[in-house]
Amino acid sequence: MKTNILKTNISKTNTSKTNTFNADKQEIYLSKSSTQKINYQKRMDECIQQLQSENRIPRLLLHSCCAPCSSYVLEYLSEYFEITVFYYNPNIFPESEYNKRILEQQTLIGAMSFKNPVSFLAGNYEKEKFQELSRGLEYIPEGGERCFQCYELRLSQAAKAAAENGFDYFTTTLSISPMKNAQKLNEIGLECERQFGVKYLQSDFKKKNGYKRSIELSKEYGLYRQDYCGCVYSFRERQNAQDQKEKSPEKRPGTVK
Ligand code: SF4
Repeated sequence: MKTNILKTNISKTNTSKTNTFNADKQEIYLSKSSTQKINYQKRMDECIQQLQSENRIPRLLLHSCCAPCSSYVLEYLSEYFEITVFYYNPNIFPESEYNKRILEQQTLIGAMSFKNPVSFLAGNYEKEKFQELSRGLEYIPEGGERCFQCYELRLSQAAKAAAENGFDYFTTTLSISPMKNAQKLNEIGLECERQFGVKYLQSDFKKKNGYKRSIELSKEYGLYRQDYCGCVYSFRERQNAQDQKEKSPEKRPGTVK
């Protein structure tokens, strides 16, 4: 089916809803952190089974972090949903990288074939929102509290856009990465569902070899695969790791292992 690409700006944030969410989130994280691990892939399977038994193809707003991560998710979910890919990633640094990733996303949607229609929606590149949330969390390594705040920024904006545009569901590609905490992502997604009144599609896309398949698809479509998560801090971590490698004894001329 032919892909429909559209580009729309979603500008103003509903600050009252965002503030309420911010005020409650520490409590949410604390209360959920002690609960046992949930198989979110199983929950998604159950949801899809139910939709199929009802012969429904719902509208899904899929937050995407980048083309490679979205490749498998699109291949998988476009069988069951009419998808709009929502590109909202104000965490990405520098701007040239942001532009590269968004273009790659649009190109991929145009190149893939889908059973149900897939379209594209761009959010705003609100760098200042990411800068604000990461204040005081700059030196926390990837996978810590700054990342949870980063998930929340992107998921809450996706939920808001889904609610405003009459979608049946929203979700994110983020759980496909082995570096991302699927439990936290789903806890935040479910809290956004409560806040914005639109269903969150629970998921853990790295299950069922999703990550492996995304690498295969990236090769098939010749996608640009970035080597850092996205923000300036992950950019520096990557840079430091490269510098360390350069300085390691194995690399120095004349050294013996
Ligand atoms: S490392 Fe990735 S998830 Fe964590 S804050 Fe940076 S961009 Fe966001």
